[in-house]
Amino acid sequence: MENKKRKISIIGSTGSIGTQALEVIEKLQDKFEIIALAGGHNKELLQKQAEKFKPKYTCLGEDGLEKICSDKENDIILVACSGKIGLRPTLTAIRNGIDIALANKETLVMAGDIVMAEAKKYGVKIIPVDSEHCAIHQCIKDIKQVDKLIITASGGPFLHKSVEDMKNATVEQALAHPRWNMGKKITVDSATLMNKGLEIIEAHHLFGFDYDKIDVVVHPQSIVHSAIEYVDGSIIAQIGLPSMHIPIQYAITYPERFEGIKSKSFSFADIAKLDFEKPDYEKFPTVKLAYEMGKLGGTATVCMNAANEEAVFAFLDGKIKLYDIYKITKKMCDEHKVIQNSTIDEIFTVDKEVRENTKELIKLQFAVK
Ligand code: MG
Repeated sequence: MENKKRKISIIGSTGSIGTQALEVIEKLQDKFEIIALAGGHNKELLQKQAEKFKPKYTCLGEDGLEKICSDKENDIILVACSGKIGLRPTLTAIRNGIDIALANKETLVMAGDIVMAEAKKYGVKIIPVDSEHCAIHQCIKDIKQVDKLIITASGGPFLHKSVEDMKNATVEQALAHPRWNMGKKITVDSATLMNKGLEIIEAHHLFGFDYDKIDVVVHPQSIVHSAIEYVDGSIIAQIGLPSMHIPIQYAITYPERFEGIKSKSFSFADIAKLDFEKPDYEKFPTVKLAYEMGKLGGTATVCMNAANEEAVFAFLDGKIKLYDIYKITKKMCDEHKVIQNSTIDEIFTVDKEVRENTKELIKLQFAVK
C-alpha cells in the first residue's frame, strides 16, 4: 500500500462485518486512518468504537451517510450495512471517485447495472467482501480468459435434513448455521439458500458473466470459497479456513496483502477430505428463482429481494413458516411487472410497493393462526 495511511470510512461499523473490519484495522493501525464510522442503532458500541479508533466523525442511522460518502478525503469506504440503505450512499461515493469495499448485497441486487456503469464511468474500484466473490476476485488474472464462475455454498443447517424438517423449522434451528456466524437476516437466507441466489446476481454484475456461466456447487466444509474455470478447463480455487477477516482485509488493503489478522494455518493433511454435491433445487427452489429473476433483469431482482426480505422478517417474528418465505417471494415475483432500464427512484418505488404488498399478502394468506 502507498506509504501514507489509507483513509477509510465504515458504513455499518457496529454490525458483524463492521466490527470484524475494525479488528483488522486494529492489527494494521499504521496502514489506516479512519475518517468516519457509521452505526445502525447500537449507540453504545459506536461510542466505544469512536473512543478507541478516533474517527473524524461518527453517525448513527441513515442520516449522515451522504455526508460521509461525499467526503473526498476518503480513499475507500467499506459499505457493510445491511439492506437497501447501502445503495444511495454507495452511488454517492462512486460519483466522488471513492473506491468501495462492498459487503452490502442489496447494492448490486437492486441496481447492479447502474452501480457498475457508474463505477466504470468514474474509474472507481468495487472490491467485493462477500467471501465467494472475494475468492473469485483473488483467482482472476485475466478476466477475458475465464469461461465460468463456480460459487460454493455451505448448504446451511438443513442441507441433509428432510423437506419436512425444513417445513417445521423453528427460528432457532434456522439461525444455527454450521459454518458462519452472521447477522440474522443473512443466516435465514443461508438456510433457504436465497443467500446463494443473491450471490449469483452479485457475481453477474461484479464480473460481467451471463447467468449460464455461473454455477453453484454445495460444499459443506466451506474451505473452497469459490473457483473459476478458464477457457482451457483449468480450475483455480481460493481456499482457507472459513473466516470473514480474510476477505475484509483483502478488500480494504487491495491490491496489497499484509499479515494483519492472519488466518489460522490451513493444513491440507488435517482437512484430508472435501465434499462437493449438486444443489437440490427441489428442496431449495430459491436458487432457481434467483437465476430466473436475474435473467429477466430490470426490476425483477428488486422485487425478489424486497419480497424475500419482508418474508424473512415475518419468519423471524414468528408470523410465517420457513418454507413460506419461498412461496411468498415466488408469488410476488410472478405478479411483478418488470421495468427495464429503471432509474434509482423507480427502483426505490418498486422496492416500497413490493414490501407493502408482501406484508399484505402475509397478513391475508400466510399468517400462522
Ligand atoms: Mg457469501
